[in-house]
Amino acid sequence: MQNFNLTIPPYAAAAIEKLNSSGFEACVVGGCVRDTLIGRKPGDWDICTSALPWQTREVFRQDFHVIETGIKHGTVTVVSDGQPLEITTYRTEGNYTDHRRPDSVTFVSDIREDLSRRDFTVNAMAYSQTTGLIDLFGGQTDLQNRIIRCVGDPEKRFGEDALRILRALRFAAVLDFEIEPKTAAAVHKMCGLLENIAVERIFIELKKLLSAPASRRIVSEFSDVVAAAAGQHPQIQATGSNHSTAVAFCLHFSNASDVLNRLKAPKALIASAAALQSAKEPETLPKALALMGKLGEDDFRNLIEYYDALGVSTELLRRAQASGIPCRISQLDITGKDLADLGISPGPAMGRVLNALLDAVMEGRLENKKSALLGAAEHIFGS
Ligand code: ATP
Ligand code: MG
Repeated sequence: MQNFNLTIPPYAAAAIEKLNSSGFEACVVGGCVRDTLIGRKPGDWDICTSALPWQTREVFRQDFHVIETGIKHGTVTVVSDGQPLEITTYRTEGNYTDHRRPDSVTFVSDIREDLSRRDFTVNAMAYSQTTGLIDLFGGQTDLQNRIIRCVGDPEKRFGEDALRILRALRFAAVLDFEIEPKTAAAVHKMCGLLENIAVERIFIELKKLLSAPASRRIVSEFSDVVAAAAGQHPQIQATGSNHSTAVAFCLHFSNASDVLNRLKAPKALIASAAALQSAKEPETLPKALALMGKLGEDDFRNLIEYYDALGVSTELLRRAQASGIPCRISQLDITGKDLADLGISPGPAMGRVLNALLDAVMEGRLENKKSALLGAAEHIFGS
């Protein structure tokens, strides 16, 4: 225990106090302690407690909304001041026979046992105002030295849960830390175990890793691990600054949509990656506009980001983006009804006319004004 002051947001402090006043220990733990110590804004504040799950539920039942979905594993979610808080009973984990989840969890009364099951020293610290910082494995020193190190024997820990292999890479890339040599050696040695991990979970980790600030360094150093996770050897084209997920995957894999398919990523993301990697670099403004129409605004923005990262010129794309020139039929100042009034029947004929009008507008031969479009439509239809 150390004399230390860490600012806990009021909604989390209130929950700790409530547990304390019912006679239970409670601390903030894990990522929020790590992030606060290095001046990063924590994603969420997790609480661990000596209260058993049903006791936690009783403590909060009266005055808080309580969600019990994780209760079997010890987690009760309490909505405090509109914010969901995960409150988890101190626990240890039983044997890992499948390299991904414990056969059982056991609730314990000693926070030290709970901290020992956690993956990395920097993630295994807890804090409360009454206990101060609890740091049993040198997490603070590793934070200062910017090191990711397993709690305990790395090979054993990765053997228990192979997802930790990717988590090590992810935290190193996100925090711009080194992976400690023994942990790094185990990461390389054990990465074959990733085949036991559900692809959906691999996708979540990989996505965070590839778009992290230090992805380039970590992906180069651990390309064997990334290949084991993704099923494709990574290429390293990213400088790694806040890329969108589609761009991050495109920068790291020559066939990103294959990787994403294998990892059962969302369909829209797979489609985006495929569109980015199959787009043909436009040579003229009309072609850039046509591409913008085909890709849609979001993927066009992604394409600019992708080309910028690759060092491909984006001048034409940016001009198309800023031009305000229509690139889709729906943006033309004319409707199907206008054309029907000219005697053009809905169907292929009308489609042909609309496409010809759009081409003329994109090429700058025709203004996007109803009168001009109607005149041109008559001409095209008559031809
Ligand atoms: P962030 O939420 O910013 O990604 P985090 O550290 O909060 O980082 P979570 O995945 O939310 O990470 O997990 C919360 C805590 O639970 C971790 O800090 C760690 O102590 C523990 N933990 C999570 N996953 C594992 C795991 N696979 N093995 C061991 N401990 C884990
Ligand atoms: Mg978290």
